[in-house]
Amino acid sequence: MKIGILNGDDIGHEIVPEAVRVMQAAAARTGLAIEWQDIPIGRAALDSLGSTLPDGTIERLDALDGWLLGPIGHMAYPKIPEAINPHPLLRKHFDLFANIRPVKSHAALPCLHQGVDLVIVRENNEGFQPDRNVVAGSGEFRPTPDVTISVRVITRNGSSKVARAAFELARARRRHLTAVHKDTVFKLGCGMFAEECRRLAAEYPDVTYDEAIVDTFAMRLVMTPQRYDVVVTTNMFGDILTDEAAGLVGGLGMAAGLCAGPRHAMAQATHGSAPDIAGRGIANPYAMIMSGQMLLDWLGRRHAEPAATAAAHLIEQAVANVIEGRRALTPDLGGQGTTAGMGSAIIEAMTES
Ligand code: ATP
Ligand code: MG
Repeated sequence: MKIGILNGDDIGHEIVPEAVRVMQAAAARTGLAIEWQDIPIGRAALDSLGSTLPDGTIERLDALDGWLLGPIGHMAYPKIPEAINPHPLLRKHFDLFANIRPVKSHAALPCLHQGVDLVIVRENNEGFQPDRNVVAGSGEFRPTPDVTISVRVITRNGSSKVARAAFELARARRRHLTAVHKDTVFKLGCGMFAEECRRLAAEYPDVTYDEAIVDTFAMRLVMTPQRYDVVVTTNMFGDILTDEAAGLVGGLGMAAGLCAGPRHAMAQATHGSAPDIAGRGIANPYAMIMSGQMLLDWLGRRHAEPAATAAAHLIEQAVANVIEGRRALTPDLGGQGTTAGMGSAIIEAMTES
């Protein structure tokens, strides 16, 4: 397997190396050979190579099976006119259409709810997002100074691709999929998304399929999140609901993610680059480590490579053991541990499983 290491910005330089260290330890135990490649991106690349996405980066990534992308501190970028945010570019170029975000409670951590174990699959490349190249390079435009029109793109192909990814995931879990939309109001856009979900439901009779209107779903998610297994939704609904869901189980440091496409996957924690705590060694590496775990699991299925699947399983177990034992927890989880200390505790826990 060829896996790229893209640290990103700020705490990215602390949490990505921990994810790599944990993945290396797991791979060594399961006999998975990984060829690692360091690829500069973000502020560090801007300083050393003159661009946040240096020439040749896309080609280098194309030759890999997947990569880890640390958070990009894009809030600072508008101040640097020549800086581009590499994230949307990568998402589009590699058609990373499914953004898979698991949400799981841990008995040892303060959570609003216990017994939560769900995954939100968010469509990643369509919808309202203004980087969509629809009208004059933007999904929004202003025909007169006092009127703004936002364009939302939903395609049959984009909807069915993300729905299929969600059905496949549901099949590997508790076999329950909920499609979230608002076709009562957005009859054409959400209507098309829902039609594709329903069409695929017929292909997956072993998966219990239901639907929820997004506002009702937002309420049920805070009241009874335990009732959900896999949830599939469009881009902006997914953006909002995944942060809401992360809040149920201990906050942003716990929000892992994988952006998956036809040939590549990108492990990316849901949180930002947290400049307020960068350089202090206290960032919670959980989300980044679990994103790396998801990448190994995805690679195991895509390449039918049992050693990758086993490595993913090993990391999942070790992380759960560390959390349940409240060992080496970082301050955001109420502990006094460090980023590297948590990585080391997870590696040690692998010898116990
Ligand atoms: P972005 O616009 O890039 O999503 P944001 O404004 O949502 O950024 P984050 O960088 O995600 O902000 O940080 C929000 C808060 O959560 C900050 O106080 C930050 O320190 C905290 N935070 C984010 N990630 C972590 C982490 N891995 N460990 C600990 N705290 C974190
Ligand atoms: Mg954010």
